[in-house]
Amino acid sequence: AFDVLVVGGGPAGAAAAVYAARKGIRTGVLAERFGGQVMDTLGIENFISVQHTEGPKLVAALEQHVKEYAVDVMNLQRATKLVPGELIEVQLENGATLKSKTVILSTGARWREMNVPGEAEYKAKGVCFCPHCDGPLFKGKRVAVIGGGNSGVEAAIDLAGIVSHVTLLEFADTLRADAVLQKKLHSLPNVTVIKSAQTTEVIGDGQKVTGIRYKDRVGGAEQVVELEGIFVQIGLLPNTDWLKGTVELSRHGEVIIDAKGQTSIPGVFAAGDCTTVPYKQIIIAMGAGATASLSAFDHLIRA
Ligand code: FAD
Repeated sequence: AFDVLVVGGGPAGAAAAVYAARKGIRTGVLAERFGGQVMDTLGIENFISVQHTEGPKLVAALEQHVKEYAVDVMNLQRATKLVPGELIEVQLENGATLKSKTVILSTGARWREMNVPGEAEYKAKGVCFCPHCDGPLFKGKRVAVIGGGNSGVEAAIDLAGIVSHVTLLEFADTLRADAVLQKKLHSLPNVTVIKSAQTTEVIGDGQKVTGIRYKDRVGGAEQVVELEGIFVQIGLLPNTDWLKGTVELSRHGEVIIDAKGQTSIPGVFAAGDCTTVPYKQIIIAMGAGATASLSAFDHLIRA
């Protein structure tokens, strides 16, 4: 059995594994795809102390760091069930079962997509999901934000300070964001809000985004907004379906953790985008992975 079994091989899981292995305890990392969301990222400019890197390059560095230590890396393996107990069990899709004294859940999250033509083609060529990451790339340009919930309205307010103009498109006939955010949004001179707008296509010139097409759900007319960037803010889905009925999840499906990364099950810790941690970023996921790992070690020495 492992002392620490990390489920998820993104930045949170990699950090947790390095911190655990450095204590000289038996450490394993199970990952459906080592690197996680970072594999899908082109430029990264907010990983502090590294001015610019690219996703696959950062993933290679993560892997190299993990492999410096005696960590059992099990890549391309999917966890399907967590069974609490004296020794905690993690069942895999391939039928195998792993046992460990402590488990760190770091299965991350994925952005909900619009599922319209052009979206996949222009990902990272104008179609973005993270205003904190990619907002500065659109300095002085025109962007749209898709979604009028809290994250969409926050993104629009944030981007309005950087870009020349923001068009916020909301599917429903009202915005769902908190009133205070809506008030702030409406006070900004360079933001246009369009409600009852169903996004139908991302338009581009083959290289990059040049516009977005939407259908007015009231009148039925199709409209095109010319722009350079599109921020999709219609939800971040934690990869926690496999945990339903075991650890306590928030109403958004995030693993509920305390300041030490402890979940509702003794010996089970969690870190990164799959948890209730505020803000989902690489540097935050790594810090959380270190916290969860040190907490798991603390749990082991008290057992
Ligand atoms: P993830 O990176 O999501 O990793 C999850 C891991 O768990 C993966 O290895 C996955 O395969 C594995 N997994 C999931 N389910 C299972 C299962 N059932 N069994 C086994 N393994 C499983 N952040 C920044 O700070 N700067 C940026 O510039 C930036 N740009 C981004 C651009 C894009 C396009 C995207 C999508 C995200 C970006 N982010 C950026 C956000 C950042 O990537 C995430 O915050 C970070 O990767 C979260 O790390 P994590 O380890 O919690 O989860």
